[in-house]
Amino acid sequence: MFFGRKLAVGVVLLLVPVTGFLLWAGMRQGPPPTVEVTSDLPAVGQATTLTIVVKEPVRGLSSLKVVAGGPALKAPVTLLEQAFEPAPAHKPWVTPTTTEHTATVVVGKRAMPELVPGQLIVRVVAGRAGTWMRQPPPAEVEQTFEVRLQPPALTSTSSFVHPAQGGAEAVVYEVGPSSVKDGVQVGDWFSPGSPLPGGAPSQRVALFAVPYDLEVSEAEAKEKIKLVAIDDVGNRAEQGFVHKFFPRPMGKDTIELKEPFMKKVTGEIYARTPELQPKGSLVDDYLQLNGDLRRANNATLKELGAKSVPKFLWGETFLPMQNAAVKGSFADRRAYLYDGKQVDTQDHLGFDLASLERAPVQAANAGTVVLARYFGIFGNAVVIDHGFGLQTLYAHLSSIGVKEGDTVARGAEIGRTGATGLAGGDHLHFTTVLHGLPVNPIEWWDAHWIRDRLKLKVGDTLPWAEQAPVAPPGAP
Ligand SMILES: [Zn+2]
Repeated sequence: MFFGRKLAVGVVLLLVPVTGFLLWAGMRQGPPPTVEVTSDLPAVGQATTLTIVVKEPVRGLSSLKVVAGGPALKAPVTLLEQAFEPAPAHKPWVTPTTTEHTATVVVGKRAMPELVPGQLIVRVVAGRAGTWMRQPPPAEVEQTFEVRLQPPALTSTSSFVHPAQGGAEAVVYEVGPSSVKDGVQVGDWFSPGSPLPGGAPSQRVALFAVPYDLEVSEAEAKEKIKLVAIDDVGNRAEQGFVHKFFPRPMGKDTIELKEPFMKKVTGEIYARTPELQPKGSLVDDYLQLNGDLRRANNATLKELGAKSVPKFLWGETFLPMQNAAVKGSFADRRAYLYDGKQVDTQDHLGFDLASLERAPVQAANAGTVVLARYFGIFGNAVVIDHGFGLQTLYAHLSSIGVKEGDTVARGAEIGRTGATGLAGGDHLHFTTVLHGLPVNPIEWWDAHWIRDRLKLKVGDTLPWAEQAPVAPPGAP
């Protein structure tokens, strides 16, 4: 009896904490998760990314489901369904595996072909941990998004658009107010449009570049060269607008790499380009300049092009270098040979013009100096902005006579020819660059071309008057 009583007390004493623990664990459900939904765009169009952040710090999440529905969809679409393992209720010392989860889902016409304009309701259901006693409901959050699928209105108003491979052209067009980005797309290259000076708010003008390596027929060019306008949610209008296209096949050239030349250019360029580390062998050092540094310099040209002012800073035909012989021309694909083996291929995108050593170099036209410094493979170089994305590059100079920010007149001396950068002998490497892409300068030296391709389209916006043609370089 005595022992039985003791046992009973012991059992009761044991049962109290065990029962207490079981009850405590049985009640220990997770708190409702917090749900946050953010969108990368102001509405839903072609592809809007929603970021969903769900948090439950106590026992962790058990599930996540994201469903899109509402008037913009005929039937709800499950965008995401995921399960997680919450921490067990009876093991408070176990850290939950998923106390916070970030998911992204893409909503829009591209992922949901059934989508129509209207309201899209995105429902996020975040499950939380239960126990043997309690199965708490999940947290549910609904967010409504406006669906817009109408691309901006877009119409070309230019009737004679006749670009050439590696050349430039202009187009005047009308675009609807919802456009946030419009211009001309050719493959990877985009030439942005600008307001037409003096025109209505809907009127735009784009000077556009056709890549020198766009080796296509006229029919293909009409497909590939497109006016585009995109709104703030990715709805895109496209329109073909080219009437004629002139293929201008690339030239071919072979460069024999000689050690004295490679020593000269690598010694100078590495010394003046501290961010570039030599590779250790002469040929590899040279190839790094010819490849990596050339690409970096071209990227800088693209950045400069993006800063061009949206107005014509010039009013006369572009000037070629005086009394110069043409030693290399635009869009030559150069094979580089060393020891009889081909070690590289690069495209030469300018005119090489040679005269006397240290010959004066003149600004081809009026504009603003946007670069005047040592510029990698181009050596001492000057870039002049002429507006609407058009710039001229003068490379390999022995001396620079202007500084960034200077306004220069057509024909003003901006430096002297030389052989700095990737140059064997004294010459001027000259090119026109449109929105960062080198284009053939011969068009800009041609008064007829400027009249027909540009002046007739943009009218008084360009203060260019009929004038005598200038002789191209190398002409007698
Ligand atoms: Zn050159």
